[in-house]
Amino acid sequence: MTSSSVALAAAADIPSLDRLLNDAAFAPMLVQYGRSQVVATLRGLLEALRQCVRRGELQVETLTAESLAAEVQQRLVRGTRPRLRPVFNLTGTVLHTNFGRAPLPRGVLERVLRAAGDAVNLEYDLDSGARGDRDDVVEPLLQELTGAEAATVVNNNAAAVLLILNTLAHKREVVVSRGELVEIGGAFRIPDVMRSAGARLIEVGTTNRTHLSDYADAITARSTLLMKVHASNYTISGYTAAVDLKDLSALGRQHGIPVAVDLGSGSLVDLTRWGLPREPVVRDAIAAGADLVAFSGDKLLGGPQAGIVVGRADLIQRLKKNPLKRALRVGKLTLAALEGVLALYRTPEDLAVELTTLQLLTRRPGDIEAQARRLLPVVQAALSGGYFVTVQAMNSQVGSGALPSGQLASFGWHVLSSGAKGSGLNRLDDRLRGLSRPIIGRLAEKALWFDLRCLADADEADFLAQWAALAG
Ligand SMILES: *Cc1c(COP(=O)(O)O)cnc(C)c1O
Repeated sequence: MTSSSVALAAAADIPSLDRLLNDAAFAPMLVQYGRSQVVATLRGLLEALRQCVRRGELQVETLTAESLAAEVQQRLVRGTRPRLRPVFNLTGTVLHTNFGRAPLPRGVLERVLRAAGDAVNLEYDLDSGARGDRDDVVEPLLQELTGAEAATVVNNNAAAVLLILNTLAHKREVVVSRGELVEIGGAFRIPDVMRSAGARLIEVGTTNRTHLSDYADAITARSTLLMKVHASNYTISGYTAAVDLKDLSALGRQHGIPVAVDLGSGSLVDLTRWGLPREPVVRDAIAAGADLVAFSGDKLLGGPQAGIVVGRADLIQRLKKNPLKRALRVGKLTLAALEGVLALYRTPEDLAVELTTLQLLTRRPGDIEAQARRLLPVVQAALSGGYFVTVQAMNSQVGSGALPSGQLASFGWHVLSSGAKGSGLNRLDDRLRGLSRPIIGRLAEKALWFDLRCLADADEADFLAQWAALAG
């Protein structure tokens, strides 16, 4: 092409805003997005075009109403897409904090929807017509499922631990084993939480071994709490010793000092029943004599983000009276979801079907493999040329610090790039993240891995549509 055949645009060639808005090409979008958004987007585009003209980069032929309308439409689609949207979590980590942890069961979603759109008896006692307490929504279920006297709910487990420490140990001493001064992902470190709560940390024992006598020796007149923290995301093995909760509780009772346990994930049922690794059960901690037990709502429990504290009624009452509780309380959506999920635990024999998290954790490797093989041709077609896709065995993880040493046998796709040094993999990863429902895999060992454990059958059509869009 010779330079004379390219007609550069002048500022005067750019159509006016009003003319474009009256053009038929803009009519559908005015209906769909409304005048204000279309005008704002079009203004932005026209300004960008004027700058291109100044740099001598704009050709006249690109300035038709149709092509400008198409560009505005694209900008509107991108600009109005929700920032928070569903993704396909194929990382192999089931309870992934970056992806919102536990997906809620479908049946529970209906409860959340009703609570969201309607007035509800959140803090209203329907029997007496008097003001109620929002914790009453889930307290009876939590009593039933854990054997505890009372319960309260806050925004997350970090908040639960903060509330316990601030309420029971402000300006007082809390005795904790050195082996339990853990850091959980996302900057939750037990010593830092202690400091924020205004509690004084008294470390006892050593990293690998702590004995009951270590706790006993550390108790002074200023001690107000003995605390145990479940070392969620790591295990120590070899020459180790930790104090049994039963023994610690007896020591606490002897000195009149409550024992609190941060159980982290905590489970309401024994997961070994489904062949999963053992994780502490809240009911067992209460039975062992713990005065308070704190755990997350959206880890193994499979519910919404929440921090749950169960235990002695007098201590729970003190937590509720702390002004911090008002700041850390949960809303009606959380309580609707939590009540729905807790109710599922009344029928544990159906839990692996009804509770999404458990259903994902207990998927049989053979079923996942069959799914990977069935969908393989679609992925291979979408990635034809430049990539080599095979079905491979891989390991899923529970995530969120639960069952740290437990790996779940799974299957999925292993993608290699024929490009130099796997640069094609990064590009593919970028393109998959750019889909309307992004597909998130895991880059490792110069390959892109997609673990299909978390791909629900019901989502397959949507999933295939994404690969089609990628290819198209
Ligand atoms: C995960 C975890 C927390 C933090 O719980 P969130 O619900 O994420 O706030 C605290 N303690 C332990 C032991 C944990 O495993």
